[in-house]
Amino acid sequence: MTGDLTIVKSRAAVIPAPNASIEIREFEVPELVPGSALLKVANAGVCGTDVHLWHGKLAGVPYPLIPGHEAVGTIERIGPSPISYLNGQEIKVGDRVTFHDVTKTCFSCYYCLIAKTPTKCPNRVVYGITMDSTKFPHLIGGYSEYVYLIPGTHIIRVPDHVSFDGAISVGCALPTAIHAVTRSPMKHGLNVAVQGAGPVGLMIAILAKITGAATITSIDQAPNRLEVARRFGVTHTLNIRETDLEERKQALREISDGHGPDIVYEATGNALAVPEGIELVREGGTYTICGQYTDSGTVEMNPHLMNRKHLDIRTVWGSETTHVYQAIRTIANNYDRFPFEDLVTHSFKLDEAQKALETQRDQKSLKAVIRPHE
Ligand SMILES: [Zn+2]
Ligand SMILES: [Zn+2]
Repeated sequence: MTGDLTIVKSRAAVIPAPNASIEIREFEVPELVPGSALLKVANAGVCGTDVHLWHGKLAGVPYPLIPGHEAVGTIERIGPSPISYLNGQEIKVGDRVTFHDVTKTCFSCYYCLIAKTPTKCPNRVVYGITMDSTKFPHLIGGYSEYVYLIPGTHIIRVPDHVSFDGAISVGCALPTAIHAVTRSPMKHGLNVAVQGAGPVGLMIAILAKITGAATITSIDQAPNRLEVARRFGVTHTLNIRETDLEERKQALREISDGHGPDIVYEATGNALAVPEGIELVREGGTYTICGQYTDSGTVEMNPHLMNRKHLDIRTVWGSETTHVYQAIRTIANNYDRFPFEDLVTHSFKLDEAQKALETQRDQKSLKAVIRPHE
């Protein structure tokens, strides 16, 4: 066992039950078993998913819950056996790290072994979402002074030149965006449109910029989000409050030499965006849905239009460790190019976790973080 052994307790923010206000509770820090480590949380990302968890909108979630599936910090203590990064290098006390929130897929079900779609494994174990705070090791969410990293957790080093704010700024949005563009690859010189300039939409726009898209159009209703998208390099913006569908179609055709965007990504969470996206994408283009993480209802669609346009339609669910790893590499390799730290617009102490959720709910923040040790 290495590291500071004097820490025996950790304060954590707990959602006692769906729709109940957050309470701060104190937990014993359990003894570290072989293969485990204790993370001192510097920043926990506040995510839209956390608001859904607060409102009880996700199935299979054990309450009382310590939320927080996005966290960065330092390794405070390591259990009785050495642990390694994915490249085999040994993890040391004091290392600056993050980790993939999905700590276990079962590697024995149909989806893991045959279909090779681990994000659909029904036995996934996810920090801050499916893990039970009433059972060992209790400290299972980022809204906490310490997180107990159970054996098998995929821990990823944060490079020295990337600050904790920079590392948390992209939350789980960049891994999701990387998964989306892996499913529907971008190529140099294409015309890309992104519906939604929230975290996932912004990350897709950044990836389009890095890839060398000819044009990148962000579509949203919030002027401040479109302004941020411009700062991160999108070439065009369309505000859906200031334009109607026909005007958006026309504008996108003009931007792309008369044909419409080659790829449209949906990252809005609004079901109405999908039939619109089908209208916007060019004939023979690709439409990718990645913003419908909660059920926002049913909409009318015209299958003939999709068929006639000869579209590739794709969807994406969750992210794998490779996407989290690539996300950290993407930040590190483009740290001078994009003002990642500026995305962290709100920070809260642990005692203010309820306020953090409300800020996220009201979409006042680009990225809100909780700093449990402040
Ligand atoms: Zn499985
Ligand atoms: Zn998230």
